[in-house]
Amino acid sequence: MRAVVKKSKGVGFISLEEVEKPRISPDEVLIKVKAAGVCGTDIHIYHDEHPYWPPVILGHEFSGEIVEVGTRAKSWKVGERVVSEASTRTCGVCELCRSGDYQMCPEKRAPGWGIDGAFTEYIKMPAVLLHRIPESVSFEEAALTEPTAVTVHALLERSLIEPEAFTVVQGCGPIGLLAAQLAKSMGASRVMITGISQDVPLRLKLAKDLAIDYVVNVDEEDVVAKVKELTGGQGADLIVEASGKEKAINQSLEMIRRQGLINVLGITGKERINLGWDRAVFASITVSFSFSSNYLSWERALSMIAEGKIKVKPLITAEFPLEDWQNAFSQAEAGQAVKALLVP
Ligand SMILES: [Zn+2]
Ligand SMILES: [Zn+2]
Repeated sequence: MRAVVKKSKGVGFISLEEVEKPRISPDEVLIKVKAAGVCGTDIHIYHDEHPYWPPVILGHEFSGEIVEVGTRAKSWKVGERVVSEASTRTCGVCELCRSGDYQMCPEKRAPGWGIDGAFTEYIKMPAVLLHRIPESVSFEEAALTEPTAVTVHALLERSLIEPEAFTVVQGCGPIGLLAAQLAKSMGASRVMITGISQDVPLRLKLAKDLAIDYVVNVDEEDVVAKVKELTGGQGADLIVEASGKEKAINQSLEMIRRQGLINVLGITGKERINLGWDRAVFASITVSFSFSSNYLSWERALSMIAEGKIKVKPLITAEFPLEDWQNAFSQAEAGQAVKALLVP
């Protein structure tokens, strides 16, 4: 079968290869991949900015149909439509695993970087990580369950959106657009989303179409002044950091209200950044970092997608065959696609 493989360490070294179809063990199922999303993580791996074990098939956001079931995976049937959590190779015995936070297990090696991923025709997954796709949700939409679950985990499980919070989402990539919708449907009063000039034609336009209250191009507008003005000088109650940009992170520290909450989902791709640390201390703010997602985040994400509380379809702006992975990656990186899917 064909697969998009990161062949060795360093920037680049990705190519379409012919690889063997995976063989399942008794606790696994074999899934025919129907759609797989290109994620910021894949781009970071391209640039050698995220851990990975080459040679490895990239891709961790996917949906598919079960084509083979292991002898012990009794609750699943051939033909079922599924998505899968990415917490593979967890140890099962550490405190995090045993207390239900297996997604944070230090032994975890997830598909797409730790083990072979979804930018291919077939993927094997442990049955214990699967979720059924609701009937009303298409394979393409379901491929966005992972980023939706990551957003749900950050905003609803690692911390809480307070009722009527004036919310600013920094960054208008897929996670930012999902977070802005989630904040709105979970009780934020007004939601602002930010982007830069290159985001205006596509991502910021989409934010407007999704009825986000304020859509701000930070290259043109002073976002700190705007937030202060809209909140009577107080600042935002909640800021979701989904940009990974040092400048935006420091602006967040300037426009969060005293004792406000900053919810962090973005990674910077840098070893360290400069921060206005004392400003955060004097304002007594709370910063909640979040990474990955677990069982409940996935069930909640699938329900919210099925109920239309989070619209994922408008985020899918491009679909490519596996052969065109390079186009998909460069569109995603240049902000010319919101979510690009690879359809094998
Ligand atoms: Zn992802
Ligand atoms: Zn563990």
